[in-house]
Amino acid sequence: MIVMKGDATEQQVAAVIERIERAGARAHVSAGEFVTVIGAIGDDRELIAALDIEGEGGVERVVPILKPYKLVSKDFRGDAPVEIAGRLVGGDNFCLIAGPCTVESRAQTLDTADVVKSVGATMLRGGAFKPRSSPYTFQGLGREALTILAEARERTGLPIVTEVMDVRQIEDVVEVADVIQLGARNMQNFDLLKEVGRTGTAVLLKRGMSATCEEWLLSAEYIAREGNERILLCERGIRTFETGAYRSTLDIGAVPAVKQVSGLPVIVDPSHAAGKRDLILPMAMASVAAGADGLIVEVHPSPETALCDGPQALYADKFAAWVADVKRIVDVMGKVIAGGEPVAVNA
Ligand code: PEP
Ligand code: MN
Repeated sequence: MIVMKGDATEQQVAAVIERIERAGARAHVSAGEFVTVIGAIGDDRELIAALDIEGEGGVERVVPILKPYKLVSKDFRGDAPVEIAGRLVGGDNFCLIAGPCTVESRAQTLDTADVVKSVGATMLRGGAFKPRSSPYTFQGLGREALTILAEARERTGLPIVTEVMDVRQIEDVVEVADVIQLGARNMQNFDLLKEVGRTGTAVLLKRGMSATCEEWLLSAEYIAREGNERILLCERGIRTFETGAYRSTLDIGAVPAVKQVSGLPVIVDPSHAAGKRDLILPMAMASVAAGADGLIVEVHPSPETALCDGPQALYADKFAAWVADVKRIVDVMGKVIAGGEPVAVNA
């Protein structure tokens, strides 16, 4: 990481970039308000020797980033919030993403969207393409669901979070999505990560169910390397020896651990970790207390009839009370739920 002096000229920045490229590395320029930081991405040791750039015109200092992930490390990117559709995620801005697991129909989705909007949530979730364990279960409405999500977005003004499972879905999904969800099962689908990284659409990267925190951050690095740095990390529970008490083991420790080393916001999905409605509130509260930057939860107008993940869907008509309980902890943490109208930000 090459930190330029506050008064470095454009020519000096260009000269450093040229040196980096001549050394066979990639230059990643991050022009901040006060200083420009240039990431030189390549083989660490050889690169540092080849660059020999300390003391060059305009260079303040050279800091090696020894972690295996670079662009998503806190050393490089700091902990600036991520902007999504004019709303900030991170810092004091708490993000509440809610909606159905799966878009099942227009009415089910719009009803849920109205409820989510009325409680002041930040974004609407809803799956069009669903990664189902069994090929015999409902696989999602696909493109038809995207049309419904577009209508929900238009109607509520809420940004949309929806999953892609395959590079062939990206073109249609980015038409509607403000945030592309990459599901747990695809966290290490590296070609998909790269392709999503080439879009300008923000990404919610779920942690793979057997991925270490480092593997998770390396997957985020794949996305960032392609130029897309608007990434939200999402802890959704991991596989352990537990088989019945809950669906996945929510790794609360991952929240502060990952936030210590990466400045990316960490969102927690207590719904998929719990698998059972009644466990979601305490798990959500614990996540907020552990420093999560947001929550993503599943809500349904009639969970008994849901085509996917009904047992973990919160009742739409009880959602306002649920949010009020979570908000008590959000308040204690000194954060505000960044719903409502978008604020003007310098994206
Ligand atoms: C989902 O969000 O509906 C989902 C399938 O999540 P995960 O990838 O975490 O299992
Ligand atoms: Mn689900």
